[in-house]
Amino acid sequence: MSYVPARLRDLTIERAGGCCEYCRVSQNSSDVAFHVEHIIAVSHGGKTVEHNLALSCLRCNLYKGTNIAAADPVTGEPTFLYHPRRHRWSDHFRLHGAIIEPLTPEGRATALVLRFNDQERVEQRELLLKFDRYPCPGPD
Ligand SMILES: [Zn+2]
Repeated sequence: MSYVPARLRDLTIERAGGCCEYCRVSQNSSDVAFHVEHIIAVSHGGKTVEHNLALSCLRCNLYKGTNIAAADPVTGEPTFLYHPRRHRWSDHFRLHGAIIEPLTPEGRATALVLRFNDQERVEQRELLLKFDRYPCPGPD
């Protein structure tokens, strides 16, 4: 993980409303501190600047790693992942209960790589839903 100055870290957390910008789980629902991550990884030339940073839960960040693209599981075409600064969540995903349904090639590639709908992740979100703690409202 690359160093992110405190000012940019604080800005990113505040801008995200304390929500994972990928799976929409709230930091308040997690024991583990969320990561301020590089949307385009440093290893791919991504810079440590406002528009390349996003707040991510541990699992989304670990699965995303340095990935910036994947094969769309429907078409097989190389597809960039969902970009929280360039895309709007609701254009690419929708919730069906605790399931995150992708709506676009970017959504499908992202849901695959970040394993949005792994059984344990869905079960965690179902539990949060029961307690009215999911989804995190977030910026959009
Ligand atoms: Zn997440």
